Amino acid sequence: MPKVLFAVSEAHPLIKTGGLADFAGSLPVALQELRHDVRLVLPAYRPVLAQARAWREVARLELPGHQAARILEGALPGTRVTCWLVHAPEWFDRPGGPYADAGGHDWPDNAARYALFARAVAQLALDEAGLNWRAGVVHCSDWQTGLVPALLSREAERPATLFTIHNLAYQGLFPAAQFPALNLPAALWGHDGLEFHGQLSFIKGGLIYADRINTVSPTYAGEITTPALGYGLEGLLRHRAAHLSGILNGVDYRVWDPARDPLIIRNYSPAGLAHKAANKAWLQQHCALPAQEHIPLIGMVGRLVEQKGIDLLLAALPQLMKLPLQLVLLGSGARHFEDALQDWARRYPEQLSVRIGYNEELAHRIEAGADMFLMPSRFEPCGLNQLYSLRYGTVPIVRRTGGLADTVVDAGADNLKRDRATGIVFSEESGAALLDAVRRALNLFSGGATWHALMLAGMRQDYSWQASARRYSALYQQAMAERR
Ligand code: ADP
Repeated sequence: MPKVLFAVSEAHPLIKTGGLADFAGSLPVALQELRHDVRLVLPAYRPVLAQARAWREVARLELPGHQAARILEGALPGTRVTCWLVHAPEWFDRPGGPYADAGGHDWPDNAARYALFARAVAQLALDEAGLNWRAGVVHCSDWQTGLVPALLSREAERPATLFTIHNLAYQGLFPAAQFPALNLPAALWGHDGLEFHGQLSFIKGGLIYADRINTVSPTYAGEITTPALGYGLEGLLRHRAAHLSGILNGVDYRVWDPARDPLIIRNYSPAGLAHKAANKAWLQQHCALPAQEHIPLIGMVGRLVEQKGIDLLLAALPQLMKLPLQLVLLGSGARHFEDALQDWARRYPEQLSVRIGYNEELAHRIEAGADMFLMPSRFEPCGLNQLYSLRYGTVPIVRRTGGLADTVVDAGADNLKRDRATGIVFSEESGAALLDAVRRALNLFSGGATWHALMLAGMRQDYSWQASARRYSALYQQAMAERR
């Protein structure tokens, strides 16, 4: 079992901006259960330091071109996973988020910040910090760790590297003029290196130099090799196709299970599905919607950005509001989407409730209270909410893309007959297709027994981390065998 250094820019519960933090908070625990010796390493941001007051300093790193960084050691809260923090106050101990200030503007020194982090990770991996621990594999995620495989590729004796793409839309692009200040080896520059159309690309460090690359679903691994979703990197990804694969994210069922979720109004399980109704009644009341048990209630939670198909929803809303349904939406993101959705909610207060903001508790209660869950994403590397929805008996209505295509089985006649169907799947990227899918869902909903079977089939699905962790473990072995 190789020793794994898990390098990441956010991890639940220390710091979270999205699904990446859930991944980094769960997978290392599951790997440890498989007997991997895992160390998690992340930057010591201010909110992280606040939770790590009792952690002890175990090393000091000299980083060329930077001030020395200290390494603090502790356990990821709630787990037995050893976590190292790269403590470089000038770069990470500041107010605001990990990547942007409180106003949402990217930190202007992001290239320098994550170059420093990458250097620290490389030194830790090579046991240059005097901690008597050397990595067999370094597992990196997204552009913030892209320089790690690039730096390690220069070493004669080095650990294997795996680079996981959680969302290819975020690439860590910076003006080329910033490259010299980072003090990176000159050989890393160029088309076959970190240069991307005259800019500095951090993600290319992972895509070019890692021994293996993976995405968070098998379908997305294929989609990013096409012009539609490759962002100009599809040629490079096709070139590396033999080293590219997909592994679905798991769900932390300690947090997302209606049988024991402490945040919902009433717990329920397949045997006592009737108790789900109390959650629906609460949600209707909370959202000031008519408390009718038999009207289908659709839930939606997520970032309000183009990726999530919010424009498709807006295109369908005039027709949707003519149907006998209620829709509850929670999210935040692009201002124009927030405004447009709130406008519609004001026009249809009896049918549509829009909550702008981030609210973990309400997200759980929507999963528990809704009958259906809508995800019309244009692309979706994995997607977590459809997995939660399956477990909560809240039938997902999804676009056939990425992880949604891999996890939801459409309620076509054949799948229904074989008891395999778990949701409604539509293909076309349009408001009309979305509307058609909702109409199909409403038809099935009125069918009683069929709908019940669909709910139960979803609840039977098992997307726990154990299975995915075993796949990552196998991928580590493969990365080591294929080390270049
Ligand atoms: P992405 O990482 O693209 O945002 P995922 O579906 O992979 O999408 O993960 C998003 C996670 O963040 C889910 O756990 C989802 O419930 C949660 N989430 C997103 N927006 C909100 C919100 N406004 N309030 C509460 N939770 C949210």
